[in-house]
Amino acid sequence: MARFESALWLPIGANTGGALAPIGALMHQQVGDGSLYGFFNNPAAQVSAHFWVAKDGRVEQYVDTEVVAWHAMHLNGAYVGVECEGYPEQALTEAQIDGFAAIMAEGHDRHGWPLYLVEAAYGRGLGYHRMAGGVNTACPSQLRVDQRSTILERAGGRAPAAPTPSTRRSQNMIASTTSGNGYWTVEPDGAVYAFGDAQYCGGANSPDVVSTVIIGIAGRSNDGYWLLDDDGSVYAFGSAGYYGRGDR
Ligand SMILES: [Zn+2]
Repeated sequence: MARFESALWLPIGANTGGALAPIGALMHQQVGDGSLYGFFNNPAAQVSAHFWVAKDGRVEQYVDTEVVAWHAMHLNGAYVGVECEGYPEQALTEAQIDGFAAIMAEGHDRHGWPLYLVEAAYGRGLGYHRMAGGVNTACPSQLRVDQRSTILERAGGRAPAAPTPSTRRSQNMIASTTSGNGYWTVEPDGAVYAFGDAQYCGGANSPDVVSTVIIGIAGRSNDGYWLLDDDGSVYAFGSAGYYGRGDR
């Protein structure tokens, strides 16, 4: 059981799934005020989150962090969901930042979450709901997304920081297409370059990604590939599916 010391345990009886080994937390915004316990405890809601952080800093935990909650569709199997009281145009309060920081610090100890900013699906650390591609949501506001670095600093993290140059660069930084008529190369910062019949499907080099050093690429056909970073996270692009991650 993973019930956080920093939270009031208020288990819900519905809207949860199977086992979860969370790789980090996703920030959500409530767009409302008041505890979400009653809402999430209603089977008709079909939605839930692990935590709710009040404006006064109180934290409620509704779902064990080793059990899936229903907060982010295809990312439910990867992340703990953290709802934050209030409205998009309201910044998180100082107390709310402290409450969220306590969750991150405890998640770091319990689950090994790196205290890093995450800007793309399946990165380890602190992400936010709408970072998942294909998710039709404005959750949370940029005002709140930008407060994550303060949350991590208070949790003892080192965000934001520049990526350290990888000492493992000599791995597979080039991948062939199955036709043999093209290839991709990838830089440690996640920039992908496509040649021949290889199609460009995206890279991991967002300027605000601070935690990722890419150490490998593998092609699927000519329209998809995976990138691997130096802490074992896998990023899938194009036709390549995501099937899990490795640990170093
Ligand atoms: Zn959300």
